[in-house]
Amino acid sequence: MLHYTEARQRVVSIVSGQRPVLVTEIVPLAECAGRVLAVDVTADRDYPPFNRSTRDGYALRAEDSATVPASLRRAGEIRAGEAFQGRVSQTECVQIMTGAPVPDGADAVVMIEHTEMKGDQVLVKRAVSAGDNIVPCGSEARREEVLVTAGTPLGYPQVSLLGQVGCAQVPVFRRPRVAVLSTGDEVVAVDDTPGPVQIRNSNSYSLAAQIREYGGEPVLLGNARDEIKELERLVRRGLQEDLLLITGGVSMGKYDLVEVVLRGLGSEFHFDEVAIRPGRPAVFATCRGRFVFGLPGNPVSTMVTFELFAAPALAILAGAPAPALRFLKARLAVGVEQRTNLTMFLPAQLEGEGNEVAVRAVSYQGSGDAVAVARADCYLVVPETVNLLEAGGFVDVLLRRG
Ligand code: AMP
Ligand code: MG
Repeated sequence: MLHYTEARQRVVSIVSGQRPVLVTEIVPLAECAGRVLAVDVTADRDYPPFNRSTRDGYALRAEDSATVPASLRRAGEIRAGEAFQGRVSQTECVQIMTGAPVPDGADAVVMIEHTEMKGDQVLVKRAVSAGDNIVPCGSEARREEVLVTAGTPLGYPQVSLLGQVGCAQVPVFRRPRVAVLSTGDEVVAVDDTPGPVQIRNSNSYSLAAQIREYGGEPVLLGNARDEIKELERLVRRGLQEDLLLITGGVSMGKYDLVEVVLRGLGSEFHFDEVAIRPGRPAVFATCRGRFVFGLPGNPVSTMVTFELFAAPALAILAGAPAPALRFLKARLAVGVEQRTNLTMFLPAQLEGEGNEVAVRAVSYQGSGDAVAVARADCYLVVPETVNLLEAGGFVDVLLRRG
């Protein structure tokens, strides 16, 4: 059976290889966080644009502070946003504010805390070296240098840079539209009252939330009964979007019809089983030029298989690089046993701070137990080759988004 890392790699290579052309749109800077940048953004000038003081204090010639205390004449002051007319000469200093340009002649700033003012004389009590408390012009970035490359998902540091260079209207890639189709005769809408053995369609909404985390625009198609005609009609509708996610109907049951319908529409299956729990019957296919995932319907299976397989596809379709799957190592608080030869993803909670982080599996009744995931903040990964993870050892933890 396919290892999940191979399955994920297959998704990444197939989607990267057949990614449709990306469409660009413009959004205001205040609304671009979470979007993917569509162009390289360059520095419009040197950064900083002048030799910038990092302290409130006095600009001086470092050599004038060689023997302390040194008494220097205060020749004026420079506020942020102002430039000093003139030069700082020997045995002179100019009072300067944080963020103001260091005047000609000066090569250091002494912090105000290390000085004393006596009339128009300043007593410098601590020596400074050339360059102290100054960020030289152009040392952060040179004019024309690329600061943020196309394909970068925009977080707050990138938003800051776009603001610095005056990019008020930001070219970003259009969000992929992701159709979400739930299946199952037992499923009712979230605003309906379920009968005694019916359940509400929570999967469409957890998926919508996960889709937004990875830069997609969810398009909810509701629920299809386990009936070929209806299923096919809604699958065809879903194929009009950039990506189609179907939940439920991919197991071995008599009424699990998703693969039947996808096959009938001429799909190419890239995998239809992965060696994981939850989520083993996960399906990845190409159907009529669109990528389709069939995610098992139990809520935890849906969440985990989205994270492992659909998320990288979505990120790539959004114009971002294929995301790396990265694990945190944490100490296991309580030992865990498993009796399968599948990789297990167990809802778990991180505890502690700094480098003393431990992880503990939460009480979990299996793949239907969304309560457990909501009480957890990560997944403990139990490799398929391991039957017992002992308390105190280091284990792999998969952080989740959202
Ligand atoms: P399936 O993968 O179709 O065999 O579904 C497995 C189980 O997942 C079902 O018995 C339901 O309890 C649950 N389930 C299926 N679809 C949904 C849904 N849209 N929302 C919440 N739970 C679901
Ligand atoms: Mg079903």
